[in-house]
Amino acid sequence: TVKAEGGGFAFFDRSMRDAADKRRWVIDNLPRAMKSGAIEMHYQPLIRLSDGVRVGFEALVRWRDPVRGLIPPDRFIPIIEECGLMATFGSHILWQVAAQIQRWVAVGREPGKVAVNLGAGQLLGGDLVGDLRAILAETGLDPARLELEVTETVTVGRRTAEIVSTLETLREMGIAVVLDDFGTGHASLTHLRRLPIDRIKIDRSFVANLGVVNADTAVVRAMLDIARTMDLSVVAEGVETEEQLARLIAIECPLAQGYLFGRPLPPEAPDFWRLDDGVA
Ligand code: C2E
Ligand code: CA
Ligand code: CA
Ligand code: CA
Repeated sequence: TVKAEGGGFAFFDRSMRDAADKRRWVIDNLPRAMKSGAIEMHYQPLIRLSDGVRVGFEALVRWRDPVRGLIPPDRFIPIIEECGLMATFGSHILWQVAAQIQRWVAVGREPGKVAVNLGAGQLLGGDLVGDLRAILAETGLDPARLELEVTETVTVGRRTAEIVSTLETLREMGIAVVLDDFGTGHASLTHLRRLPIDRIKIDRSFVANLGVVNADTAVVRAMLDIARTMDLSVVAEGVETEEQLARLIAIECPLAQGYLFGRPLPPEAPDFWRLDDGVA
């Protein structure tokens, strides 16, 4: 390898080497991490705004490394996708979440619906439907407890027809589908109409500007109108302030998620069940 010195070139070279190093580290350590339980799921509550009740969770993956600490998904998911390992990794996540829901149900906990994010490689490679059939059969999980989140970006492109048909199958199996990061991709309304989905999730970049940038408040309102017209449920993500919450309630957004209600937590966290689940 070239040992560059000084100036912009050195920086370029160093960043390249770091990216390659990170990639190598992920590839080398992933199999052991999956086997040893280092891949953890944390869960963030989903809140119904009409009464403030927790009606579900979103499962978010983390990698616990003895040296590097808790590694956030943005650091390894893109690498896993690039290396073509997402189908395997995503399947591991789905098994883990299904087992967790069943453990909760067994001890009388009510998690509501649990949403799992799907990576592009899970929709375009592997056997997602087969995996999920096996998971449901083996764990006895009620499919109505599971939701799958797909991003706009993943669903747009040459293989849209194939993805639409996969999503249709999932819904026939009783699993709900959520369109994540709504508003950030290039999807047209025509595209939205073609997608077999149950809910849209308004990206937190729009929520962040609620009450700050008037145009964004109008955009969120328009998204709610579109969703109503199409008979879709809506969740606003990334709610951090009381002001944002008040605006969302004022425009009758049905569901929300964000640090204001709760951060993603591991199931063993002491205040994991803190929020009201509406069950007396
Ligand atoms: P996402 O699906 O849009 O998930 C929401 C992200 O926003 C999460 O970050 C969550 O912790 C964070 N968040 C929640 N509430 C707030 C808030 O009020 N303010 C702010 N600033 N952030 C908030 P996280 O867990 O780091 O995940 C980042 C992304 O990584 C996710 O974005 C998703 O695209 C991906 N990801 C996470 N878990 C999985 C997984 O199990 N499978 C796949 N394929 N992707 C995952
Ligand atoms: Ca998500
Ligand atoms: Ca999102
Ligand atoms: Ca209760």
